[in-house]
Amino acid sequence: MSATLPTSATYVVIGAGIHGLSTAWHLAKDLIATGKGSGKDIVIIDKKGPGAGASGIACGCVRNFYMTEPLHAILRHSVDVWESDPVTLGFQQVGYISCGEANQTSDYEKIHASQNAVDYAADLYVGKDAKNFLKSIWPDFKTENIDVALHEKPSGYAGTTQSMWGLDEHCRRLGVQRCYGVEVTGYDMTNGRISSVLTDKGNIAADCVVICAGAWLPKHWEWLEKSDTLDVRYPDGHVEKAMDMWTFWRLLEGEVSLDEPYRTADDRDPPILHVELMNTTVVDENGREFDEHFYTYVRYAAERMGRPGLQGGTIPIKIGPKATLDPYGHDNDEYQADDWFADYYCATLAMLMERFEGLRKNFKTRRNGGIGAFTPDNVPIFDWVADNAYMIADSNHGFKMTGVGKLVSKHLITGTPVLELEPFAFSRFSQGTTFGDRNSNCPWV
Ligand SMILES: Cc1cc2nc3c(=O)[nH]c(=O)nc-3n(C[C@H](O)[C@H](O)[C@H](O)COP(=O)(O)OP(=O)(O)OC[C@H]3O[C@@H](n4cnc5c(N)ncnc54)[C@H](O)[C@@H]3O)c2cc1C
Repeated sequence: MSATLPTSATYVVIGAGIHGLSTAWHLAKDLIATGKGSGKDIVIIDKKGPGAGASGIACGCVRNFYMTEPLHAILRHSVDVWESDPVTLGFQQVGYISCGEANQTSDYEKIHASQNAVDYAADLYVGKDAKNFLKSIWPDFKTENIDVALHEKPSGYAGTTQSMWGLDEHCRRLGVQRCYGVEVTGYDMTNGRISSVLTDKGNIAADCVVICAGAWLPKHWEWLEKSDTLDVRYPDGHVEKAMDMWTFWRLLEGEVSLDEPYRTADDRDPPILHVELMNTTVVDENGREFDEHFYTYVRYAAERMGRPGLQGGTIPIKIGPKATLDPYGHDNDEYQADDWFADYYCATLAMLMERFEGLRKNFKTRRNGGIGAFTPDNVPIFDWVADNAYMIADSNHGFKMTGVGKLVSKHLITGTPVLELEPFAFSRFSQGTTFGDRNSNCPWV
């Protein structure tokens, strides 16, 4: 049951997606552990409820395949959280395998070294070893174009709705005041601080506000009277003038049922599979050609489909600095996957494994996909946006990032900056530590 909005609280967390719920839960745990307070000191607000944004409709992949190295430590913390209660959070630790062509081998080597440096166990296979490794898991894998494979062992996936309500349950148990059906309509600012969060159910004063509004963050940014463009300095010294602060991208995803269970050679749930082949054209079984570039991800999704099946997607499509947010996700006609997507996606699957041939007829016709707000370098921003307001803007990376709330809570409770969060400060755009050096056609690799 949703609580009545109080008039003040020590901590107000806005948004009951992965970041808001994880932050509220960890804050409650840390307040209790340090004797500084309890869950009752925290109010979490959502205009709808847990999982009303991207966190409720994500594909649910938990992986660490990023060319932005500081994210690897964030994922180490995140998997610690997933592993701490896989039952309530619905975590399936099946692993994650990324494959590419020779042009990405050195990227894979760097990612592999960086992951292992933060204790994220992963194995790298190159050349013939990559092909043999893939065939040892999926004997019918068509490995002709594969030159490199990375196996992340701690990764996996989670059913999104279960995870959101599992996190909500953790908050409830620790006494967090969960106020759902309450919409934030603006902020009262006094001397650089949010003195009051304005809502359609009254105003609430807060010592500290944590803003986790997902795709709606650009609106909150506007309420904080921040600029919608900025000059961005890159490590090589060049400056891009007046870049959009936020860019919306539309994600294309879908589901395909299977007539047989999807298993590995040794009869296990298969790892998630992510394949980017930058020099391979996608061709379907009738010879129709799509992009000159192959990008697909696929995971077992029986928990969503009620029968054996797959879920996955491809590279998102850029919308621009403005987008209609409401209704969100599957309810919005504007953001459904395009007609060509089903053909493309099934073509990629058929190119990967013999067992995936002829699946076009099994593509599930239902609403899917969604949109996200990306930052100028497509990497998260975790930082203060007012003297008493912290923002978690994950640049649409973050269903997997349960560890961010844990680290933000540590920062707020101790008052000491947390090393792992520092590379994601807003100041990188002026200081020239902007990210963006990635050899991929996808904005989230
Ligand atoms: C189709 C799709 C697939 C994805 N797949 C994956 C994946 O496989 N793995 C992965 O790691 N990431 C994935 N992502 C990205 C991931 O889902 C998001 O990065 C993450 O869920 C964002 O979490 P959040 O808590 O920041 O925002 P959200 O989950 O969007 O939560 C924000 C909440 O804030 C609330 N809110 C906003 N404004 C207000 C207001 N004014 N007043 C009150 N409440 C407000 C909303 O109702 C919402 O519930 C995917 C995203 C999409 C769209």
